[in-house]
Amino acid sequence: MDYRDYPCAYWDLDIKNSIGIIVKIDIDKKGKVLVVGLGFRTGLTSANFLSQRGYKVTVSDNKSVAELTEIIKKLDKNVDVVVGKQSPEILDENFDFLVLSPGVPASIPLIVEANKRALPVISEVELAYYFMSGKWIAITGTDGKSTTTSLTNHILRTIGYDSREGGNIGVPLISLVEKSKDDSVTVAELSSFQLETVFDFHPGIATLLNLAPDHLDRYDSMDHYLQAKLRIGMNMGSSDYLVYNLDDEVIAYSAQQINAKGLSFSINDCNADCFYDGQTIFLKDENSKVKIDPSNLLIRGIHNIKNFMASLLMIQSYIRLVGDDPDYNTILKAACDYPGLEHRLEYVATIDGVTYINDSKATTVNSVKTAIAACGKDTVFIVGGRAKGENYGLLAEALRTGVRHSVLIGETADEFEILFSHISHERAASMEEAVKKAKDFARSGDSVVLSPGCASFDMYRDFEERGRDFKRCVAEL
Ligand code: ADP
Repeated sequence: MDYRDYPCAYWDLDIKNSIGIIVKIDIDKKGKVLVVGLGFRTGLTSANFLSQRGYKVTVSDNKSVAELTEIIKKLDKNVDVVVGKQSPEILDENFDFLVLSPGVPASIPLIVEANKRALPVISEVELAYYFMSGKWIAITGTDGKSTTTSLTNHILRTIGYDSREGGNIGVPLISLVEKSKDDSVTVAELSSFQLETVFDFHPGIATLLNLAPDHLDRYDSMDHYLQAKLRIGMNMGSSDYLVYNLDDEVIAYSAQQINAKGLSFSINDCNADCFYDGQTIFLKDENSKVKIDPSNLLIRGIHNIKNFMASLLMIQSYIRLVGDDPDYNTILKAACDYPGLEHRLEYVATIDGVTYINDSKATTVNSVKTAIAACGKDTVFIVGGRAKGENYGLLAEALRTGVRHSVLIGETADEFEILFSHISHERAASMEEAVKKAKDFARSGDSVVLSPGCASFDMYRDFEERGRDFKRCVAEL
């Protein structure tokens, strides 16, 4: 990983001091709440959840009534709706606290004013934490969060635990409260956006997967991005477990600042708690080392071995935490049934000897590098979309040395044409045209990979719609 282009003084990080306003909410008071950001699933779910429990809820969004009609219809009838503008004056209504949807930046005037008035602003994660029963496993990192979250949940459920997944993976955590019991476990995928506004959140088990440049359109430095992520562990203590990637310099250093029992995974250092030597995983368990053969996993690529190692350490910790003994044969069997998630290096079809792969979820330069490592050189990559503030020179360099040809789509095409001037590439005005051009260039034995390295919002509602459109275009070939 190359940080040289990013100002990052991470050696000076102090998580506790990075916290803005420390808030204390009297959640039993059933007071007045403002939910900010209705256009997101979490906003709607949080508003209804609180209203149904007797809180006086108002929702605020800068989108117009026309744009939000469908969502407004789904709101509890007691919820007040103030949409079309989001001015700070609404705070004169004396709210007890605000719930901020992860898609809304904390820099908007409404939230800045709330901070000035020392009004508590929390995320839906924090809200869910107040109400959820049972234990928490929390996962963050730049890449691999969804896969690790759903793999961990899949294994825990398959081997008999009452586990549910939620968070950034698409299911609002607050919607899991109803079914949670004391012996339940919530496996939460947490983005840096969600973690910005947690204060009391305290998972018994957490994981830091990796750190690479991302969201630099929202954060002014890698420091701030990392600080947000590290809030995952700010309340942890010596009886909690922190799983971390020993091969990632920044993560390995940051893990030392979190007060928890550290459990490391690595593909380089055989002293790690979980180590992969290229063939076998060696997992420390009490005083012995368990050998695990990952060759039958359906999810492929070295990045998925790392995700699996993180899962193994979390599952081991959880099973020990609840007083059981892990049975690694059943754990491995469950892992080998796991089919992987849609839009992550997903096999689509083979047509005339050319394999088509949908990696629409790859929205960072680092995840495109992962796709190049997994798919090899005989490839045509479809890249581009809405920029996220990254150094796309690094993308051009990775594609120059790693793939045969690139097809450029989306808003970034002008910038990429300049950066890609020395490498084989062409432009396409739509996904249909991109797939056709990639097909014309590819030879039998090659792969065509949609791995955009950018956000999807210039052409699509989200990365899922983009991936589905790619699969439609492939089907039409
Ligand atoms: P996230 O939820 O963090 O975006 P996903 O599990 O959805 O991560 O995977 C998105 C993409 O990131 C994948 O298609 C893959 O290319 C890449 N990726 C997944 N796991 C890792 C990892 N451990 N290290 C680096 N890249 C990864």
